[in-house]
Amino acid sequence: MDLSFSNEDDEFRLKVRHFFEHEYPREIIEKLRRGCSPSKEDYQKSESALANRGWLTVNWPSEYGGPGWTPNQKHIFDEELERAGALNVVPMGVIYVGPVIYTFGSEEQKERWLPGISNSTTFWAQGYSEPESGSDLASLQCSAKLEDDTYTVNGSKIWTSLGQMADWIFCLVRTDNSGRKQEGITFLCFDMMSPGIQVHPIITIDGKHALNRIDFTDVKVPVDGRIGEEGKGWTYANYLLGHERTSYAHVTGKRRQLEAIRKTATDMSSYGSDLLQEPGFVQSLAELECRLAALEITVLRTLASVADGGAPGEESSILKVIATELAQDITEFDMKVFGSYAAPRFPDSTLPDNFGNLSVPPGAAPAMATYLGTRAQSIYGGTNEIQKNIIAKRILGL
Ligand SMILES: Cc1cc2nc3c(=O)[nH]c(=O)nc-3n(C[C@H](O)[C@H](O)[C@H](O)COP(=O)(O)OP(=O)(O)OC[C@H]3O[C@@H](n4cnc5c(N)ncnc54)[C@H](O)[C@@H]3O)c2cc1C
Repeated sequence: MDLSFSNEDDEFRLKVRHFFEHEYPREIIEKLRRGCSPSKEDYQKSESALANRGWLTVNWPSEYGGPGWTPNQKHIFDEELERAGALNVVPMGVIYVGPVIYTFGSEEQKERWLPGISNSTTFWAQGYSEPESGSDLASLQCSAKLEDDTYTVNGSKIWTSLGQMADWIFCLVRTDNSGRKQEGITFLCFDMMSPGIQVHPIITIDGKHALNRIDFTDVKVPVDGRIGEEGKGWTYANYLLGHERTSYAHVTGKRRQLEAIRKTATDMSSYGSDLLQEPGFVQSLAELECRLAALEITVLRTLASVADGGAPGEESSILKVIATELAQDITEFDMKVFGSYAAPRFPDSTLPDNFGNLSVPPGAAPAMATYLGTRAQSIYGGTNEIQKNIIAKRILGL
């Protein structure tokens, strides 16, 4: 197993770095640095810049417009995107439903939906979870009845990320209640402008609006919006979740956070707090850095196994747990470093570098919202308790 990068990899890294430094929209990087939420226009601008280079659908096969990169090149690209502080790609279209469409969809569906995803003109939402179905997703009850080539959808979805921006939604719906609960589930794609759809915002504890509840009342969906066969949606849904869980490591983003914490610890002496002299502070920081190094090696080991022809499989559950726990511990440490300066949570649009005459240590203003928002990482994509069940059963054979 070779974990090193080749000379070609290093050259590729320089090319990607040059793009983010000179061609990617600076104003988006600046907005994110201040902790503001990106708008739909920001996502479109960011993704168009990537799409113009053919770098948006990096995981897609070449025949559907992917750049044909090696696993190392994909990893380097992710690293450079985070190093630049650029916007992560909205995963629902490019990473989740796109691969489902090119793997299980009809030719007509590929032609209809893939171009809009790969040129970032169509945004998608993921309608899996329901008010009474999360970890036990197969118990979902949002129903679809087929009559004369049209499904009628009734029910609710919840925690739908960026549903307020979505043009299309892919939903798991129940088409049969008679057999095993996994067998009566169907995968439907439909237009968010269809009559009978209501999107209700959910404002989260970090003050942001990324989540929604979506109600469907007699929504008519043509049968050609169905992926694959009726009742086989569970297979497509699980294929998609495999793609979802490998995308959580964000090693370079975490490295930037730890570098910022080191800098803040020095800067805080101007704000009356000499953290570097406090017992245990440097040790705690070093522990986080060691855990990040371990995460990075785990990511590289996973990449090496994919490059050798293997599949990450259940390893994605290990990555998900260690990456999200580390993300939470880093933001908690960040709060300790900023102390009372991190106490207020500022409204998104007014995130300051200073307010009134009182100067705030750089990075303090968004710290509380980031800390609170990061709590969700161990919930979405399948909770960490569920990932630990998968590790116990499928990896350790317990
Ligand atoms: C920020 C965010 C974004 C999200 N985005 C989307 C989205 O775009 N689309 C979408 O469909 N969903 C989305 N979700 C929903 C997410 O997938 C669910 O919240 C998650 O699967 C957990 O389901 P639940 O909330 O119903 O919790 P529950 O399943 O009710 O779990 C409650 C608690 O019980 C534990 N638990 C449950 N079953 C077991 C078990 N068998 N063994 C051990 N412990 C167990 C859980 O770990 C958790 O701690 C999002 C969630 C969040 C927080």
